[in-house]
Amino acid sequence: MRAGGNDPIREAARLLADRRNAVALTGAGISVESGIPSFRGAQGMWAKYDPTEYATLHAFMQSPRKVWEMLSEMVSVCGGAAPNPAHKGLAALEEMGIVRAVITQNVDGLHQAGGSRRVIEYHGNMEELICVYCWKRYPTRERWTPGSVPLCDCGEILKPNVVLFGEPIPWLAQEQAEEEARTCGVLVVIGTSAQVSPACDIPRVAKEAGAVVVEINPEPTSLTASVTDVHVTGGASEVLDRLAKLIRKTGSGPLEY
Ligand code: NAD
Ligand code: ZN
Repeated sequence: MRAGGNDPIREAARLLADRRNAVALTGAGISVESGIPSFRGAQGMWAKYDPTEYATLHAFMQSPRKVWEMLSEMVSVCGGAAPNPAHKGLAALEEMGIVRAVITQNVDGLHQAGGSRRVIEYHGNMEELICVYCWKRYPTRERWTPGSVPLCDCGEILKPNVVLFGEPIPWLAQEQAEEEARTCGVLVVIGTSAQVSPACDIPRVAKEAGAVVVEINPEPTSLTASVTDVHVTGGASEVLDRLAKLIRKTGSGPLEY
């Protein structure tokens, strides 16, 4: 029987071990098991905060104190979270020379905390604050305390250095992500609903350039029936932990049952 057979996780392991030059694209779902809620779904942040009122640059410019109600929650939750087996599994795959980069939509810093070295932060991160008036930057922990609204030396309210709706993707991250997508052999898409543009275009770019797309998500997404070649249905922690173990056990040789 061909290694991989009809078992998606073994098929994914075989593809990764054979092709090796893999890139991961991650979304909020990979950090759910670290206690950070995703945005969509019943437990998601959007059930509590309407994104049009809390997550756009326009909303921040109009009512920064109101937007900081949501941001405070995000900073606290992200600051208290630790990497889970999915973050560590991806780092292990990088260590083994299988995954060469992680493109993340997340802003929680958990890939770096989990040991990944090449991380492209597509939407910025929560660890830094920026003034949208004078562009001065500060480490978040130096300016923000729970319940407060952080101020710049110029007197304006600071914004986390994350991409809100209506803001462009940082150009370097955009360039690097596109290059990784165009040149990888396997794109592993983990825990994203693929509804946020332009991040949702990355799988298509990779596929059109010849990559195989593996998706790890407990639910189907808009990618599953169109772009995805192998859908591993399951939580990121369990799947990545298993993938890393399967590949470590067999090296680049054929996977055995
Ligand atoms: P999303 O909230 O739209 O979708 C989350 C996806 O994760 C869903 O498809 C869901 O089925 C899947 N999922 C849930 N539990 C999972 C698990 N255990 N393992 C694997 N997958 C799981 O997330 P998105 O597509 O990343 O878009 C939200 C945007 O909000 C992102 O651009 C990101 O910047 C931001 N965000 C970031 C964080 C964070 O930094 N941790 C948290 C919330 C939102
Ligand atoms: Zn300023």
